[in-house]
Amino acid sequence: MEDKSIAIIGAGFAGLSAGIYAQMNGYQSQIYEMGDLPGGLCTAWKRKGYTIDGCIHWLVGSSPNSGMYRFWQEVGVAQGRQFVNAEQFVRAEGPDGRVFTVYCDVDKLEKHMLELSPQDADLTRQFIQGVRLGITFDQAQPTTSDSVLQRTLKGLKFGLLMASKGKMMQDLMRTTTLDFTNRFKDPLIRRTLQEMWLPEFSIFFVLFTLAYLNNQNAGYPIGGSLPMSLAMEKRYKSLGGQVHYRSKVEKIVVENDRAVGIRLVDGSEVRAGRVISAADGHTTIFKMLDGKYADEKVREPYEKWPIFPPLLFVGLGVNRRFDDVPQTVSGMSYMLRQPTEIADAVRDSMPVHIFNQDPTLAPEGKTSVVVMLPSKYDYWKALAEDKASYEEKKDQVARTIVTLLEQRFPGIGEQVEMVDVATPLTFERYTGNWQGTFEGWLITPQNAHMVMKPMSQTLPGLENFYQCGQWVEPGGGLPTGVMSGRRLVQALCKADGAKFTTSVG
Ligand SMILES: Cc1cc2nc3c(=O)[nH]c(=O)nc-3n(C[C@H](O)[C@H](O)[C@H](O)COP(=O)(O)OP(=O)(O)OC[C@H]3O[C@@H](n4cnc5c(N)ncnc54)[C@H](O)[C@@H]3O)c2cc1C
Repeated sequence: MEDKSIAIIGAGFAGLSAGIYAQMNGYQSQIYEMGDLPGGLCTAWKRKGYTIDGCIHWLVGSSPNSGMYRFWQEVGVAQGRQFVNAEQFVRAEGPDGRVFTVYCDVDKLEKHMLELSPQDADLTRQFIQGVRLGITFDQAQPTTSDSVLQRTLKGLKFGLLMASKGKMMQDLMRTTTLDFTNRFKDPLIRRTLQEMWLPEFSIFFVLFTLAYLNNQNAGYPIGGSLPMSLAMEKRYKSLGGQVHYRSKVEKIVVENDRAVGIRLVDGSEVRAGRVISAADGHTTIFKMLDGKYADEKVREPYEKWPIFPPLLFVGLGVNRRFDDVPQTVSGMSYMLRQPTEIADAVRDSMPVHIFNQDPTLAPEGKTSVVVMLPSKYDYWKALAEDKASYEEKKDQVARTIVTLLEQRFPGIGEQVEMVDVATPLTFERYTGNWQGTFEGWLITPQNAHMVMKPMSQTLPGLENFYQCGQWVEPGGGLPTGVMSGRRLVQALCKADGAKFTTSVG
């Protein structure tokens, strides 16, 4: 195509990635973002001197020995960033004083699980075998520091692994976490593994996440989410890209079944040779394009697939250190003295993420803490019809959480200096994500085949229009966002008969 201009909707990781690779390959792109910061869901906000991190727990590809690391260098995220690898993924304190620690080190995890529940030895070994499979796969990925010979050998090893273990992987992908873990006889192990992520999520992802953690390839970046987003924005700009903030896109302009530009909410139009939406899929397909290019296959996910549940997200600023609590990747949980109603559900345990691995998020001697609970979008939508009720419920949630934290951390009520409650509607308002979801489509047995064969980045009958990001990449996540933008620009280069090239800034 002669016209090399591209209008990109959304400056989340996927939109920034598409922009970065577009610029690297001689396209002239501009990003239109409705918010006033880069990063979309990968963000953070300040309250009373504390930073509430709204996203990152672990970043797959953080190890310089991994294949993915090169991508993080290309988009400018890896450079100068310090990653920490906690020893524990999560830590669950049971009602009887027993503790199940999901160690990142697979040997340690296996030993601990066998000691905690000898009766589950067979299933524990199956579980650990799945993690080890992931470890082997991760280590088989070629890296840029490999010699040509090493890359060739790794390529061969990877091919052999796919041939010999591909079926096992597919079976794991088609098994939910609930189905796999329900067979554990020990209630603490069963419950922890189910709540560690989501019961309906494919067990494959739990196992592979533990594999990345074992390989120290899913570290937490000191500074958290926003600095990574700002680094990507910087990289994009350094390649000549331009981001227009507070520029909400209302429509994709189409002429003769060909996308020719975008229209912003202020009525202004921008023409471009191609349009990429890296924004929410539902809004893109059914509002920006009025559902005109949505056949049955395009509609199917929006009608049938489950999404990652929206969150009630409570950030707290606490005037104390938590040196006595082990650092974790994803937090700890403890049982409540009695089941307690918090907003739309009665909860019997409390998940708490103490950011004691990152002193940059709080003033000296203080700590940023987050409590994340799945919560129904419709519940908050109905409440929000009356603003006062909505605000009162948020206040009530804040009070309840602090009271419940007292059960595990006596005296904390006096130390809490700030509480900030975000609901599914907050996520929707700031990022546009459908139903306030935080990661798009869940991978379940129903759509597991999509992971093997990527979802289409185009819509039937519409030319020069493309999508990238978590709505066309089941499972979502930051690495997927970057790879989604990369895979799209690779396809554009192919269509234009150009060689796809990348560089490290
Ligand atoms: C609490 C939480 C924890 C998470 N933890 C992790 C983790 O540890 N590791 C990990 O890899 N991932 C994690 N994720 C998931 C990850 O953040 C997302 O999957 C990823 O950021 C999605 O990127 P995206 O670019 O596809 O979409 P988004 O980030 O949603 O970006 C879309 C962008 O489009 C903009 N936009 C929307 N509509 C319009 C419009 N009409 N006009 C203009 N702009 C528009 C939005 O403002 C936004 O900036 C987490 C997410 C959350 C919320």
